[in-house]
Amino acid sequence: MYGYSGKILHIDLTTRKTWVESKPEEWYKIYIGGVSMASRLCWENIEVGCDPLSPGNPICIANGIFAGTPVPVGGKYGLASKSPLTGFIGDSLCGSWFTIALKRAGWDGIVIHGASDEWVYVFVDDDRVEFRDASQLLGLGTYETEEAIREELGDDQVRSATIGPAGEKLVRIANVTNDGRQAGRTGHGAVWGSKKLKAVSVRGTHGVTVADPDALLKLSFDIVEAAQGPHTQKYRVLGTVANVLNMNRLGLLPTRNYQDGVFEYAELVSGEYLHDHYNVKTIACAQCPIACEQMS
Ligand code: SF4
Repeated sequence: MYGYSGKILHIDLTTRKTWVESKPEEWYKIYIGGVSMASRLCWENIEVGCDPLSPGNPICIANGIFAGTPVPVGGKYGLASKSPLTGFIGDSLCGSWFTIALKRAGWDGIVIHGASDEWVYVFVDDDRVEFRDASQLLGLGTYETEEAIREELGDDQVRSATIGPAGEKLVRIANVTNDGRQAGRTGHGAVWGSKKLKAVSVRGTHGVTVADPDALLKLSFDIVEAAQGPHTQKYRVLGTVANVLNMNRLGLLPTRNYQDGVFEYAELVSGEYLHDHYNVKTIACAQCPIACEQMS
C-alpha cells in the first residue's frame, strides 16, 4: 500500500495502554483520509449514547492522504468526536506541520480513548508513546504550550496539537490548535479538556512512500502553478474573508448563529477593510503555495 502505513495508533488515557490496529486496503479505499476517516474511526470506537464530555467519547485524528507529500494544500488532517456543542458527530479540518509529523511517524491516524485522572500530554515519538505530566502547562495559551513542549523535549521539530485555557475549562466552542492553525469547529477543545489532555505532540522521522514519485512531483508542480494564478489571487491578497461582502449581498452571511443572512456591519469585517486597516503579514500552512492567512 502506498501513501499509507496501514496502521492506526490507539491510546487509552484511563489505563495508559496503547495498541496498534491494522486496516485493510479496502478500508482505505472507502474512507481515504482526513474528515472521512476520522468520522469513521469515531463511529467504530464511540460508546453508543455517551455524553460528549465523558470517557466513552473518543478523539479521532486522521491524516489526509497527501500529508507529507509534495501535493499542494495536502497537509491536512481531520479531527472527529461527538460534539459537546451539538450532541451530534463533530468534525473539523485542520492543516500544517502536525499532520505531516504524524504521517512521518508512521501513523495514518490516532484514536484516544478514556480520560486521564491527572493533566497529561501524549508524546508520539515515531512508534514510541509517552504519557507526560502537563500540570506545568495549565493556563498557557496554545502557542505558549507548543513552545513549552519543544523546550521541554529539547527538539524544535516536535509538532503539537494543543488546547488553551478555554479547552481546559470545557468551553463548548473551544478549539484545538497546531502551528497557528485551528481545528475550530464543534468544540473539540472541550472534549480534550474533559480527558485532561493538554496536547498531543509528535516527532516523525520517516519518509512517506508513494507509488510513482516522478509523476506525483510533476502533477504537484502543475498544481502549484495553477494555485498561484488568477483564480486564487483574492485569497492570496485578502484571505478567505474576501468572500464576506459577496456572501452578504447574497443574503448568505451567517449572522447571529444563522438567525440572519445579512450582517449590518459586514463592511467592517470584510477582507478589503481588514487588509486596508489591520494587515500585519501574510503566512501559509505547511505544504501550501497559496498562503491565504492574513494576520491582523
Ligand atoms: S494557507 Fe490557506 S489555502 Fe493554504 S492550506 Fe492553509 S488554509 Fe488552505
